[in-house]
Amino acid sequence: TQRFVDPLSGVGRIVNSYENARASGERIVGLVSRPVEVRDREDSVVRETVEGHVEYDDVTFSYRSDRPVVRNLSFAADAGDTIAFVGPTGAGKSTAAKLLLRLYEVDSGTIRVDGVDVRALALDSLRSNVGYVSQDVFLFDGSVAENVRYGSFDATDEEVEAAARLAEAHAFVENLPEGYETRVGERGVKLSGGQRQRIAIARAMLQNPAILVLDEATSSVDTETELLIQRGLARLTADRTTLVIAHRLSTVKDADLILVVDDGEVVERGTHDELLDHGGLYATLWNVQAGAEATEEFIAEVVARA
Ligand code: ADP
Repeated sequence: TQRFVDPLSGVGRIVNSYENARASGERIVGLVSRPVEVRDREDSVVRETVEGHVEYDDVTFSYRSDRPVVRNLSFAADAGDTIAFVGPTGAGKSTAAKLLLRLYEVDSGTIRVDGVDVRALALDSLRSNVGYVSQDVFLFDGSVAENVRYGSFDATDEEVEAAARLAEAHAFVENLPEGYETRVGERGVKLSGGQRQRIAIARAMLQNPAILVLDEATSSVDTETELLIQRGLARLTADRTTLVIAHRLSTVKDADLILVVDDGEVVERGTHDELLDHGGLYATLWNVQAGAEATEEFIAEVVARA
């Protein structure tokens, strides 16, 4: 099968062609498989659809043998729950979430979807039922429509447009030189970070998975774009089990469970209110962020008055 540049390495966001993607039959949305080592078992379990229960049971993982990046991680999500990972950069949040997609195999412990060990699930079943949205969205050197349709190769033009509308992408796409037929990787048409994110959201809308891994963007966009992205994401995550690597504490406020991760370990867990009461790392992060936002608002007010 065709291999793609690994977007997780930060190399090139616009690579390869739609035809290659289609030919490979790769269903995973928004990211690239790592064909090495991760293979279907001979007796793999096929699940066309899943309800969306996710369970991590004492999961440990290391990229290199010397230092685990995820240690003894356990949690359970009911179908539709939102689990938020928060914590410092490099703590292992993304890695923990990516393990669900089986981009890497756990060293020990078990990850289950609807009670089935993900190692026993057919990769195709797993990846058609688990969507992935990140700021490193993987765009092909093809049209906008093709890039959205990557979420579901059989989608009609109407379905592509409907997904783009839900993702708040339709308006900007219509303003591109050739609308949905505009090639994203050629003729100098470069999509902004905020636009790429919305293409990723539209793609995931089309894929319509029961489970979503969402890596929230850290790159800043203007306030209006931010609002559009938030609206698109709210529609996308509703009624889906979502593991979110949260960079905005406002996102985690309503999470069913917040896991505060530091150096590969969960150091605090609970809801927003529970963690604020606890007065630990989460409360500190929250207060710093709330302070920063208050300052921004204050500056905006002063600027508006001037
Ligand atoms: P977070 O999402 O909390 O910022 P990550 O899961 O991205 O943390 O990273 C956790 C640790 O694993 C970091 O030390 C990071 O450098 C390392 N790491 C991440 N991806 C890889 C990789 N593909 N290969 C080797 N090390 C990695």
